[in-house]
Amino acid sequence: MSKPVVAIVGRPNVGKSTLFNTLAGERISIVKDTPGVTRDRIYADVTWLNYNFTLIDTGGIEPESGDVILSQMREQAEIAIATADVIMFITDVRQGLQDADSKVADMLRRSKKPVVLVVNKVDSFEKYMADVYEFYNLGIGDPHPVSASSMLGLGDMLDEVVKNFPEGAGLEEEDERPKVAIIGKPNVGKSSLINRLAQEDRVIVSDVAGTTRDAIDTDIKYNGKEYVFIDTAGLRRKNKIKEEIERYSIIRAVTAVEKSDVVIIVIDATEGVTEQDAKIAGIAHERGKGIIIAVNKWDAIEKDNTTVKKHTEKIRQILSFMPYAEILFISVKSGQRVNKLFDLIDVVIENNSMRVQTGVLNEIVAEAVAMQQPPSDKGKRLKIYYITQVAVKPPTFVIFVNDKELMHFSYTRYLENRIRDTFGFRGTALKFIIRERK
Ligand code: GDP
Ligand code: GDP
Repeated sequence: MSKPVVAIVGRPNVGKSTLFNTLAGERISIVKDTPGVTRDRIYADVTWLNYNFTLIDTGGIEPESGDVILSQMREQAEIAIATADVIMFITDVRQGLQDADSKVADMLRRSKKPVVLVVNKVDSFEKYMADVYEFYNLGIGDPHPVSASSMLGLGDMLDEVVKNFPEGAGLEEEDERPKVAIIGKPNVGKSSLINRLAQEDRVIVSDVAGTTRDAIDTDIKYNGKEYVFIDTAGLRRKNKIKEEIERYSIIRAVTAVEKSDVVIIVIDATEGVTEQDAKIAGIAHERGKGIIIAVNKWDAIEKDNTTVKKHTEKIRQILSFMPYAEILFISVKSGQRVNKLFDLIDVVIENNSMRVQTGVLNEIVAEAVAMQQPPSDKGKRLKIYYITQVAVKPPTFVIFVNDKELMHFSYTRYLENRIRDTFGFRGTALKFIIRERK
């Protein structure tokens, strides 16, 4: 499944955050124990009719003065053009058409990306509709009047957004080749890694219709098998504000992860794993992708026989929400273990889409329950009736119980570990849904 990406662009104070929050609503996808992603609402899952898409708010810290506003808007537009399938350009009927709007509209028009022009703060159609027509002057199509705060006009606007999705978006992909996203902080060696991997064979830069973005897809053949690598390193920010750089790198990661089956999180061994790595890793975890942690620049650190262990422990500690992730120590510079990535990719993808039979699954759970009694509360004990796998990518299980409240997180974790003991599932998250059976 490849989910379309929709980006919001607009001047400060036109109502971008308000619109984002309204559309994200309760559906905002948050894994509570994933660090980072909970705090910063940069992206959210939105459902409209039969469509699911990822909504991105490109607006970061907003400047006060005119000049800076325009340059900042250009940057927003640039990132939106680079990553989104559809761009929502937000304007404000009360402030009217501004010079900066026209300049950004020109940029968007030249990009040939589908743009939905939104005129916000139309809290009353009667009162403001006459002012909406002015926005035709932007030359990017029909203005869609909405009120983000009063939730007016949003349905028509969303209809227009989904109409612009690339054909087949959100449907099962025909392309069977493994898609591998390479993510990580700047300077950890992502581009070097792709270049190194590409040396193994001819590089074809593909331009798959509908998935075009400047995160360039690189086709790489290894042992007769084709892989598509999605690079996120391409766009270099000149921007000096740290928060902005971080915001952009998160947006880039989200869009790449969305298109991938497996994610390689590159970490710099000379720096060790950091909170920012955790933030980026959290995105891949949340999306239920196969995960490989590549600790790069292994050549550049002093090693003794405890180094691997120390690094592994630190990674497990900081990325504690993904104990299942595979870890590989590599050096892109010397080529050490780089080719091992291909084998790991295969294993992880297989596990991410593995199905296990209900019979065997229930036997394992029955055994696990016999070995460790389920928790109880106020004299009532948890009963586990039945478990079945309902989905893959990631493998998702429904457990039927007598009382959901009694299913403690640690007991789910215990069952997960027993299931992993038997089936492995290396490199992939498992999802558990607890249901009551009356
Ligand atoms: P952003 O800077 O583009 O993210 O804008 P915000 O979402 O922070 O909104 C700027 C201001 O406009 C806030 O005071 C909002 O309450 C207000 N606002 C947003 N949407 C609407 C709307 O539909 N109608 C009205 N009247 N005010 C709005
Ligand atoms: P990106 O920003 O993540 O794409 O990182 P780059 O691929 O541009 O690499 C950043 C820097 O790290 C460059 O100077 C690379 O030469 C260096 N680098 C990449 N891989 C290795 C490695 O395995 N060992 C060492 N010592 N340096 C590396």
